[in-house]
Amino acid sequence: MYGPGDVRVEERDDPKIVEPTDAILRISATCVCGSDLWAWRGINRLTEPTPFGHEYCGIVEEIGSEVTSIKVGEFVIGSFFASDNTCPHCRAGYQTSCQHRALMSGCQAEAVRVPLADGTLVATPEVPPKELIPSLLTLSDVAGTGWFAAAAANVQPGMTVAVVGDGAVGLLGVLAAAQLGAERILAMSRHEPRQKLAREYGATEIVTERGDEGVARIKDLTDGIGADAVLECVGTDESMTQAIRSTRPGGFVGFVGVPHGVNVPGELLFSSHVGLLGGPAPVRRFLPDLIDRVWTGKIDPGKVFDLTLPLEQIADGYRAMDDRRAIKAFVLP
Ligand SMILES: [Zn+2]
Repeated sequence: MYGPGDVRVEERDDPKIVEPTDAILRISATCVCGSDLWAWRGINRLTEPTPFGHEYCGIVEEIGSEVTSIKVGEFVIGSFFASDNTCPHCRAGYQTSCQHRALMSGCQAEAVRVPLADGTLVATPEVPPKELIPSLLTLSDVAGTGWFAAAAANVQPGMTVAVVGDGAVGLLGVLAAAQLGAERILAMSRHEPRQKLAREYGATEIVTERGDEGVARIKDLTDGIGADAVLECVGTDESMTQAIRSTRPGGFVGFVGVPHGVNVPGELLFSSHVGLLGGPAPVRRFLPDLIDRVWTGKIDPGKVFDLTLPLEQIADGYRAMDDRRAIKAFVLP
């Protein structure tokens, strides 16, 4: 990424083992994240050309001398943050706050170095058939992030859940809420193809209104009470406020949209009786369970990919997502 609207595919040196805890992966598939678009749009400024991409899965090509749990030739998935999976924060299930965490980058590539391989990577039971790779790839970030939104919002069987945001994370938040037993799922979306996928993933009602009207609609649909759990998957001031105001007293908001300009007033926090938990999703916590759900056909999060491109054309993926012509671009090195 050179700057706004300027993504180039260039020949770079092959990644090498640096620390004895590293692994080198041959990437099977990668993708473009909604959060990558902040730099594409020039909202996040880059000071120099930067290798991009933090979603990855692939075959282990080489391991450092201290790596014990991952073998060469295995198909593995890891989080967008590398983590040791042993420190107090990891043990509490917050691997994205790991005391030794390292943000992954440069995964939109043919190969990548993964630090802390033992803690970060989880292998599938065997090398997967090609058709499972899109769904497995989503577990690296987007599906795990949707899952964390639902877990953080304390979704329980029988609950009424509202999902703010119809990007890939929001849609996979719908899927997570359904898997966790929500009885009603109110998906907030104005885009027809996304509404369709939301319904496939388990949304029972679609709310097209936003802001004050969106809050009023959620209240209408819940006898004036509000949703038991709300998933905030956008990250704007409006979406965060809307999420809090749509939640019933005693309910929780799980917020995973990377905030841009969010300023929640203290009075709203105080008066709402709503619990907030969010942040960069500890997808490593969910990997073993989600790999199993994909492997056994219980979930198919890979449906969020509606555009497939070779790595050489990845800039088209950024463009299509920025224009909202695509939900999410699947990229093959
Ligand atoms: Zn840790």
